[in-house]
Amino acid sequence: MVRKLLTMGSALLIATAPAAAQDPAAPLADPILTTNETFRASIERIRGQSGLWSGAMAAIHARGGRVLILTPDQVVVRAEESRTESFDTTELAEAAPVVGPGSTVGVVLVVVNLSLLESAHARRGATVREIEADLDRILIHEVYGHAVPYLLAGDTSGRCADPVPGQDPRRACSMRRENAVRAELGLGQRADYTLSGLALSGTR
Ligand SMILES: [Zn+2]
Repeated sequence: MVRKLLTMGSALLIATAPAAAQDPAAPLADPILTTNETFRASIERIRGQSGLWSGAMAAIHARGGRVLILTPDQVVVRAEESRTESFDTTELAEAAPVVGPGSTVGVVLVVVNLSLLESAHARRGATVREIEADLDRILIHEVYGHAVPYLLAGDTSGRCADPVPGQDPRRACSMRRENAVRAELGLGQRADYTLSGLALSGTR
C-alpha cells in the first residue's frame, strides 16, 4: 500500500514563514517549521547542544530545504488514489519526504504523536524531564536520522533506512545518525529498534 502524508492546506507555512524575514538581525533561521510550542522547545534544546544538528540545519537552510513538524491532527494519509484517512493513532512518529518532479525532495514532513507520547508517560508517572528527553530522542531520530539526509541529497537518494530484520540495529543508517546526536546530548545510545530506547518503556 502506498501511504503518503499530506498536510492540511498550507496554513502552517503561512503562519510560520514570515517571522524570520522580518528581523534581519535574527539568528540564522532554522529550516524547521512548526506551530507547536512543545516541539519548538525540543528543537531549541537539541540545537543548543548538538554541533552535528546545528551544522546540518545551516546546510539545509542554505539550500532552502524545509522540515515541517506536525501533530497527527495536522495531516491526513492518502491510502489510495482518492481516499484519505487519519494518521494511525497507534504510531508514535513518522517522517515522510514530499517528492517532487525528478524525485526531488525539498520538504520533509515529520509527524509526532505527542498525545500518545504524553499519555504513555502519564500512565507510568514520568517526570516532565523524562517526557522532554523522549521527545528529543524521537525528533533526533525522525529529523536528523531521516529528514536531514533527504534534504542534504535533495532527492530520494537520501533515504536513510531503519534496521531490517537480521541486521545489527546499531549499523542501520538512521540509528547511527540518531546515536551520534544522542551522544552530544547525553541521551544514551539506542541499541535496538524497539521502543526500549525511550524512557517510556521503563527500561532506561
Ligand atoms: Zn526511523
